[in-house]
Amino acid sequence: MSPGKPQILFTRSDIEERIGQLGAEIGREYRDKNPLVIGVLKGSFVFMSDLVRRLDFPLEIEFVRLSSYGSGQETCGKVKMLSPLCTPVKDRHVLVVEDIVDTGITLNCLFDILRKEKPASLRLCALLDKPSRRRVPLTIDYLGMTVPDKFLVGYGLDYDEKYRNLPDVCCLED
Ligand code: 5GP
Ligand code: MG
Repeated sequence: MSPGKPQILFTRSDIEERIGQLGAEIGREYRDKNPLVIGVLKGSFVFMSDLVRRLDFPLEIEFVRLSSYGSGQETCGKVKMLSPLCTPVKDRHVLVVEDIVDTGITLNCLFDILRKEKPASLRLCALLDKPSRRRVPLTIDYLGMTVPDKFLVGYGLDYDEKYRNLPDVCCLED
């Protein structure tokens, strides 16, 4: 793919408004639970930082870096945590924060790994969802926006490590 000029799909104010709503929803569930909020690097770093600043109650933050699966490699054994979590997950209320769910394989594998550690609860918050691309079933408990099957960049999302710093969610194709 040779990328064209990024076209805005969701402006920073669209995103800000939606994150405010998500924050309120998450607050109703987690206010008294001291949740462990785990961001999936690198893509979620911008969303994570905006989201947690809308959560006005005690929580802890962790990040996880995952090895990605190659094309045609879609078993869970192919997705691994690149370093162990520094915070134990056992008996914690865990909220995983992801930038975008595509096939669902990455998060399905991460959830399998985390479930083995016996968290008190395990839920997912994703900014974006491309349901047309789903290959494995996955419940998104808190979702920002549903998007079409286009390649998106900005607001943490990259193309070849570029564009993560764009403040809006953009589309690279027409
Ligand atoms: P999945 O395992 O759900 O197929 O993969 C999810 C990961 O693929 C996301 O965390 C993200 O890193 C990457 N991804 C999926 N769709 C897009 C996209 O449109 N743009 C970018 N930059 N990354 C994407
Ligand atoms: Mg990601």
